[in-house]
Amino acid sequence: MPNTYQPEQIIRPEILALSAYHVPPATGMIKLDAMENPYPLPLALRDDIALLAASAPINRYPDASAASLKTVLRQTLAISDDMDILLGNGSDEIIQIIAMAIAKPDAVLMSVEPAFVMFRMIATFTNIQYVGVPLRKDFSLDIEAMLAAIEKHQPAAIFLAYPNNPTGNLFEPAEILRIIQAASGIVIIDEAYNAFADASFKDQLEVYPNLLLMRTLSKSGLAGIRLGFLIGGSEWIAQLEKVRLPYNIGIMTQLIAEKVLHHTEVLSEQAETIKSERTKLSTFLATMRDVEVYPSKANFILFRIPGASQIFKMLKERKILIKNLDGTHPLLKDCLRVTVGTPDENTQFCTALHALLTEAV
Ligand SMILES: *Cc1c(COP(=O)(O)O)cnc(C)c1O
Repeated sequence: MPNTYQPEQIIRPEILALSAYHVPPATGMIKLDAMENPYPLPLALRDDIALLAASAPINRYPDASAASLKTVLRQTLAISDDMDILLGNGSDEIIQIIAMAIAKPDAVLMSVEPAFVMFRMIATFTNIQYVGVPLRKDFSLDIEAMLAAIEKHQPAAIFLAYPNNPTGNLFEPAEILRIIQAASGIVIIDEAYNAFADASFKDQLEVYPNLLLMRTLSKSGLAGIRLGFLIGGSEWIAQLEKVRLPYNIGIMTQLIAEKVLHHTEVLSEQAETIKSERTKLSTFLATMRDVEVYPSKANFILFRIPGASQIFKMLKERKILIKNLDGTHPLLKDCLRVTVGTPDENTQFCTALHALLTEAV
């Protein structure tokens, strides 16, 4: 028997140094931690989906190009014929595809901090140098720092979430345009929260060839099927397509997404409800003493509260699961993030928080 290696001798040091992305167990909890839409689809639509599932040829590989689904996406989102679409198993996979495609030895992937953690993590997975430019204290873009970092690092790709996660705000569109204009690489605007934002860079796609727009169905009600997509010029999408694994979008995802996209009014009505609940939740949080609420154009709210980690733990003991961001970045000291749930879930969260804060004094 030859001597076998230990993981430490085989696995790249930057992977050994990582802690795995932690998804906390949520059984029996009021789940307000992951920006899911809390509403199920209407029964009739679920029945349609059951029929589709029953007759799906799951012994066969799915359509590798998902042509039918792409056609429906194009129609529903009014994507012009000049633009191509890349599909991913969630938009996480699209970030990975882009990173793999640009991973030259000296390539830089840039974003802001705090941002969606996957930008940094996937850069690490793919051996790309990550540069995160800190936001200002109010979570707006530090445009001068951003432009200087672009000049210095010449990033192959810049990822900006619009609205940003975990802060919930929309960056200034004029500043994003300056970034797109200054970048010699591609700029990916990640519109994961588009359903709640009333703002988009979609119209700019025709203007800037280095702009790519990323969306997902996850936050608007279909997190379970995993479908993300990237819209952009064919010169970029055709290259990225080469990196996409042929059957990354399963047949169930293709069938269900196509079916639901024929009923987008269902998702938009749910998004409207979530937006009005967001207003109520923000208003409530703003009445709490010592709580600082940040404005949100997404389906979650970031707030700062003294003793955040303790509050997080006590909420969890009361079966309410939100996201603790305290300690993840200096700008997020004492910050918690709550996903907007159903009116009942939101009330339970507010009641529990109110009780904790009044007990504490
Ligand atoms: C949730 C989220 C994603 C990932 O969504 P999936 O499509 O579920 O992989 C991407 N970007 C941002 C900013 C997100 O918050």
